[in-house]
Amino acid sequence: MDQSYRPDTACIHSGYTPKSGEPQVLPIVQSTTFYYDNAEEMGRLFNLEDDGYFYTRISNPTIDAVEKKIAALEGGVGCVATSSGMSAIFIAVLNICKAGDHIVSSSAIYGGAFNLFNKTMRDMGIDVTFVAPDAAEAELEAAMQPNTRVVYCETLANPALVVTDLELYAKVAHAHGVPLIVDNTFPTPINCRPFQFGADVVVHSTTKYMDGHAVQIGGAIVDSGRFDWTNGNFPMLTEPDASYHGMVYTERFGKAAYIVKARVHLMRDLGCQAAPENAFLLNLGLETLALRMERHCANAQKVAEFLEKDSRISWVNYPGLASSPYYQLAQKYMPHGSCGVISFGVKGGRAAAAKFMESLKLASMVIHVADLRTSVLHPASTTHRQLTDAQLLDAGISADMIRMSVGIENIEDILADIRQALEKVKA
Ligand SMILES: *Cc1c(COP(=O)(O)O)cnc(C)c1O
Repeated sequence: MDQSYRPDTACIHSGYTPKSGEPQVLPIVQSTTFYYDNAEEMGRLFNLEDDGYFYTRISNPTIDAVEKKIAALEGGVGCVATSSGMSAIFIAVLNICKAGDHIVSSSAIYGGAFNLFNKTMRDMGIDVTFVAPDAAEAELEAAMQPNTRVVYCETLANPALVVTDLELYAKVAHAHGVPLIVDNTFPTPINCRPFQFGADVVVHSTTKYMDGHAVQIGGAIVDSGRFDWTNGNFPMLTEPDASYHGMVYTERFGKAAYIVKARVHLMRDLGCQAAPENAFLLNLGLETLALRMERHCANAQKVAEFLEKDSRISWVNYPGLASSPYYQLAQKYMPHGSCGVISFGVKGGRAAAAKFMESLKLASMVIHVADLRTSVLHPASTTHRQLTDAQLLDAGISADMIRMSVGIENIEDILADIRQALEKVKA
C-alpha cells in the first residue's frame, strides 16, 4: 500500500492491492477460520510470533483491508474495526483504563458515549469528569486527577456541532502523560485528521459517513503510533501479559503496542468484531467518501444559509456559518468543510418543530444521520431522551432543536421540501 496517496485516492486504492489473477474488487472472505497444515505454524500465530489469520474474531482478510484503508486515511500505524461505534469507544478506553482510573471527557459528546462513561463505566469502577466543551485551559487542568488515564472529546460533536479545540485538549492531556482520544465520526478524515493536531487515538462510528448508505453498523479505532506508553502510567502495556506467556506489548510491538493490544487482548476477550460482509459494504462506502463529503458539505452550507435568512427559524447552528461561535475553530481544524449535519429551531417551539418535521416529504424522520438521504431528527425525544434537561443543556441540546442531516440529493429539491414544510407550520 502506498502511504503517499492523497485522501481521495486512498479512499479507492488503500488497503487492498490484488496480485496477478486475484479479484480486482476486495472479496468477502466469509470464513471463521483459516487452514494450516502444521501445528507449529499455527502455534506461532497464537503466540503472536508470526503475522497471519487464524480466527475471524482476531482478524480476517476482508476486515484487514478496510482497517488498512482507514489507518491510511487517518495517517495512523494501525486500525481495529469493530462491530459498532460504541464498541470502538468502549475498547479504545478500556484498553488503557481499569477500575480505579479516571477519564476526563467533554460533555458535548454522542448520547451513547455519554451514557457509557456516566453509567456503565462508572459501575465498572472507572470514574469520569465531564468538562464544558469550550473549557479554558485552567478548567481542563482542574479536571485532571493523578489517576486520569484518558482525555476524550469529539472533533465535531453529535448533535451539538461543537468544534473542539483539539490542540488545547491534547496539550493538557500530554502535560499529564495521558493520551487524547478523539471521536472523528462527523468530519471523517476527509475533512479533519486529528493526529495532525495532537490526538493520539481516533475512534469512528463507521455507521455514519464512512458507510454513507446506512447499510451496516460498524466502528474503528486508529492508533497514531506517537504516544509514549512507557511513561509509567500504563502498566497494561509495559508489564508482562500472562495470557501471552509474559509478552510485553511495548517491547514486542513498539509504536503499534496500543492497537495490537486492542486486537489481541480486548477483541479476543470481548469479541466485538466486524462481520466480513459488513467490512465489504463499508469498503464500498469508503470508496466514494471524499466525493460524498464534498457534496454533503456544499448542500449543508446552502441549507444553513437559507434557514438563517428565513424569519420562521429562531436559530441555526452550523460551523460553516460566519455567525457560528465555532466558525473560527472550524476554519482552523476543518477548513474544507465540516459535515452535512445542521441543527436549528423552528419558531413556536416543540409543537412547531413537530409540525415542520411531519410536513417534510423528501427528508425522512429517522434516528440515523450522515447517509446520502436527507433526514431529520428531534434529539430531545429520541437519541438523548435518557438525559435530564440539565444534562441536555450540557450536551448543547435544546428542547426545540431539530437536527437535519443534509444528503447528497439535488440542492433545489432539498430546499423546495424545506420551503413547503415551513409553509405548513405557518398555516
Ligand atoms: C453514532 C455515533 C456513535 C455510535 O456509533 P454506532 O455505530 O451507532 O454504535 C459514536 N459517536 C458518534 C459521534 C456517533 O455519531
